[in-house]
Amino acid sequence: MSLTYRIAVAGCVHETNTFAPGLTDLTHFANDWFEGEEAFLARYTGTRTSMGGVIDACRERGLSLSPGFYTQAVPSGMVTDEAFETIANAIAGSIDPSADGAVIILHGAMVSVSEPDAEGAIVRRVRERVGRELPIAVTLDLHANPTQAMVDDADLIVGYDTYPHVDVYERAVEAVGLLHRLAAGEVKPVRVLRHTGLLVAPQGMLTDAGPFKRVMDLAFDWERQPGILNVTVIGGFPYSDVPDAGMCFIVTADGDAALAERCAHELTSFAWSIRDEFAVRLVTPADAVALAERQPAGPVVLVEGSDNVGGGSPADGTHMLPHLLRASKPSLLVLRDAEAARLAAEAGIGGVLRASVGGKSDGWHGEPVPIEGRVRLLFDGDYTHIGRYMTGARARMGLTAVVQAGPVTIVLTSGRVAPWDPGHVLSVGLQPTDFHMIVVKSALAWKTAFGDVAKLAIDVDTPGCCGANLHLFPYRQLKRPIYPLDPGGSMR
Ligand SMILES: [Zn+2]
Repeated sequence: MSLTYRIAVAGCVHETNTFAPGLTDLTHFANDWFEGEEAFLARYTGTRTSMGGVIDACRERGLSLSPGFYTQAVPSGMVTDEAFETIANAIAGSIDPSADGAVIILHGAMVSVSEPDAEGAIVRRVRERVGRELPIAVTLDLHANPTQAMVDDADLIVGYDTYPHVDVYERAVEAVGLLHRLAAGEVKPVRVLRHTGLLVAPQGMLTDAGPFKRVMDLAFDWERQPGILNVTVIGGFPYSDVPDAGMCFIVTADGDAALAERCAHELTSFAWSIRDEFAVRLVTPADAVALAERQPAGPVVLVEGSDNVGGGSPADGTHMLPHLLRASKPSLLVLRDAEAARLAAEAGIGGVLRASVGGKSDGWHGEPVPIEGRVRLLFDGDYTHIGRYMTGARARMGLTAVVQAGPVTIVLTSGRVAPWDPGHVLSVGLQPTDFHMIVVKSALAWKTAFGDVAKLAIDVDTPGCCGANLHLFPYRQLKRPIYPLDPGGSMR
């Protein structure tokens, strides 16, 4: 082993909603596709992303970094076999087998048409290329559905501790630290994966309050104990219909498998004991708007989790729009409709747009809604994250038009961009505090964009492929029984 350790890094982040309309092919990954050291460093140095964390941690520790292939796409439907094969081979092929360790940056809920455990398969391919001896650390999103195969093939797994995910950078730094200790022979990681038998909607996974925070606190208590290297709490991603979807724990101990088992068992038992508390309370759109209008001061955030862009939904759901058009107070809605954005551009600034907007992906997320409004602004749609989440990351909304339709300010985007950053509306010249109601197509991650200004948040009950009522989803692959789908089920 060389005097200066060399760490390889590669990865792919995609959260696959198997219920979302359409397939995800290579074109969806084209905006973030980086092959080789130069491209990787140029894009991610100085950003608060997983990649930025790996870069900084290696510099800090005097490790030499060998960046390979990295790509990501906005969450969406099932990944095509062609895209999966291309990406998996690019990742495995870009890891130098003569490195002293490898970090693989993954989401953990990617699914391809033929491979339900797409990322387990990626780790397997890397393992096959580098051999059993080379230490591999994997970083995962909190909304992952990890499998035993992945846990067996990796040496270290480090998941995010926060939702909204404001610690992706810190967890990558942690992963590099553990990998360094492993490469130096200081630790002997043993891992235990234990599933709770619970399926939880993302709204039940807030980490700074409520039942999920209690689970996190217990995990942190264990993580501070001698002999425990990492406790990863996985909330799971219920919108991937795969056998292992749901809430689980990955505990990594230093050589002591029994200790890891004890920790995993205690966490699983605790989560099971408070299982009813993860349920999400929803309000009908009409009641939500009426409740919002009664508030003396806004903005009231109307949380439309069923069309959560960050969960793979189409971003063109229209269930809220008719209620907003009838309301007396000003509201803001960001809606994907490339055709309507183009028509607005043709009408020009100050022109009138008459069109039916949104609801064009499928029937589930609503029908197109006719509007008439004045075009106030046209924009190429590029902005950079300025908030706490992935600061420095780029967002691309594509051709974007701001249209005023009665009390509703509609931001028509061509692309699907999640409301994760204040730049989501600041970039089109709008101030969130000017609106009494803001619809967010998000479950919880909107808090890093609007959490500081929101006076109240209401979870609205609209249909869609990220709905919080999990009983409505036609699961076929998911292991049963699982709570709350099978109320008679038991802890796994
Ligand atoms: Zn997530």
